[in-house]
Parts: sequence; C-alpha cells; structure tokens
Amino acid sequence: MSLAVKAVGIRKSFGEHEVLKGLDLEVAYGEVLCILGPSGSGKSTFLRCINHLETPNGGYVWVDGAIMGYRYANGALQELPVKHLRAQQSQLGMVFQHFNLFAHRTVLGNVIEGPMVVRGLKRAEAESRAMELLEQVGMAGKASAYPSQLSGGQKQRVAIARALAMEPRVMLFDEPTSALDPELVGEVLEVMRTLARGGTTMIVVTHEIGFAREVADRVVVMIDGEIREMGVPGDVLSNPADPRVRSFLSRVL
Ligand code: ADP
Ligand code: MG
Repeated sequence: MSLAVKAVGIRKSFGEHEVLKGLDLEVAYGEVLCILGPSGSGKSTFLRCINHLETPNGGYVWVDGAIMGYRYANGALQELPVKHLRAQQSQLGMVFQHFNLFAHRTVLGNVIEGPMVVRGLKRAEAESRAMELLEQVGMAGKASAYPSQLSGGQKQRVAIARALAMEPRVMLFDEPTSALDPELVGEVLEVMRTLARGGTTMIVVTHEIGFAREVADRVVVMIDGEIREMGVPGDVLSNPADPRVRSFLSRVL
C-alpha cells in the first residue's frame, strides 16, 4: 500500500536561518492530519516544501509513491524538468489563507481554469464538473459572480472547489480560516468537515483546535522547525509530553 504523502528529513533554510530542521511525516490515504504550532514555527514552509513551491535543502517527499521534483534516470536521481514538476504539483490541491482567486475571472471561470489549461478538459466538461463542485461547497448560485462580490467565506469555499477541480490526491490547507471574520469561519470548516467525512486526504495547518480535535485522525505540533508531538488528537491535545507543546496549547486552548 502506498502512502498518500511521505516526507523524510525535510530541511529548509533561508540564508542563515534554519526554518525546518529535518521533518518526517507519513500521511495515509483518507487520513486527515492537522498541523498546529506557534506563528513562525515553519508550518507554511513545511506545506510549501511538501508541494515543492519551495525546494527543500534536504530530504525528499513522495506523493503516491512518486518522489517529488526528481526522477530516476540511469540509476540516479535527476531534477525533474519544470513541466513535469507542475504535473506532480497538480496532485496536491492547495488552499491558502488569502484565497488567491483570479480577480478578473468569475467563480466558474476560477474553477474551470486549471482543468482546462493544465488537464486539457473541454470547456463543457470542465463546466459541468465545476458546477458539481460549486454545488458541493454551496456556491453554485454565485457561479457568475466575481471574487470582489463575495464574502471571505464564500471566496474560500470557491478556492476549495477550485483546488478540488484538479482532482488532487491530497488537499493541503494553510490556515484557511485565519483571514476570515469570525462569523464566516464556520461555513468553511463545515465544507472541510464534509470533505474529511467523504474520505479526502487532507493536511491542514490550522489554529482551530476544535476542528483538529473533532476531525483530525492525527495532529502534529511544530515548534521552531521541529515536530515536537504527533499522535491522535485526544493524546496530543489533552496530554502532551513536551513542555513547550504544553505551553503553546495552554495559550491557544
Ligand atoms: P508559520 O507558517 O508556522 O507561521 P513560516 O513557515 O511562515 O511559519 O515561517 C517560518 C520562518 O521562516 C519565519 O521566521 C519566517 O520569517 C521564515 N521565512 C518563511 N519564508 C521565508 C522566505 N521566503 N524568506 C525568508 N524567510 C522566510
Ligand atoms: Mg503560516
């Protein structure tokens, strides 16, 4: 059985600053893993290393058994040409804190863009699939609206539909509710909860401890570029062994 994601020894530095100090992670198909940790601990950098938006300085990532950013040729690892890297990256759907929708495209236009441009779907097919996904996130009624006409929660639900439209093997979320007004957080978490129940493999960086406790199969706590705790939510959140994790959780719980 291949894992959805396996990361081994991931290191990343920016100049002298070592942000990731050798992280290992395995995520099984259908698993929901939440990553918690203080601001600046390297959570976003870790997600960006997993999908190779940042190239790690050390370590490797496998997605569905294929090594990210490299291929074997003549018995050696070679860096993958950008075009092939893009194809690998499309196996990982990414949802960002700040939505990153195309401002000049409608909601429907945002969702069909990737499938048409990257996957070569015909417009009619892309649109019918996009409408199903918009239905799923409760945004079908806004298909012809522009992002500027939407609330933050609506934008984020469209961003989720857009990521799903690429039929990724794994969904990566980087604090998807952190930029939202409090009253809009729930509708986005509800969509994520439904995805999780449906068996979507998810890695979610979040400060929503309640969501992690309820939805995650496992949680990871990162501090200073290291994974300090990893386990089922009940253990990690209620009874962390690491004193720095205890102190972090006591501030956010
Ligand atoms: P988190 O998501 O946990 O808040 P980040 O991964 O965003 O943490 O950042 C971890 C550290 O790496 C921070 O000190 C941040 O300033 C630094 N960092 C992140 N990206 C860059 C970059 N592109 N260049 C320089 N430093 C960076
Ligand atoms: Mg971050």
